Amino acid sequence: MTEESTALPRAVTGLPASGDTLPAAYRQDRVRCARCATALRAGDRVSVLLRDGTDGWRPVSFRCPDHAPDGLASLTSVHGDDQALVAATLEPTGGHTPTGQFDPDALTLGGVEVVETAREDRS
Ligand SMILES: [Zn+2]
Repeated sequence: MTEESTALPRAVTGLPASGDTLPAAYRQDRVRCARCATALRAGDRVSVLLRDGTDGWRPVSFRCPDHAPDGLASLTSVHGDDQALVAATLEPTGGHTPTGQFDPDALTLGGVEVVETAREDRS
């Protein structure tokens, strides 16, 4: 495995469980499966698609356990970006919104396991 098998979980653990920049989207009832729109809650084991942007790894979409993808190839996302698919548990830790306020209802990612990564410059 590459260094990402250890570096990526460290970078992602504790990230707010939202790919949205709106503070309201960090709240527990706003994280939904991209396939079936089931609300994902604290303690749920979910699949998370992440993208590595200029400000670091960001969650892009979530899947419930019933719709967990096998790998990046089964997701119809934009190719060419640095992407990663991980399994993670939604933790009820609370967290800071993009505006810097603490939201006690925010979920963060814990127990991160890398499923697959794709790098633009892979060789
Ligand atoms: Zn689902």
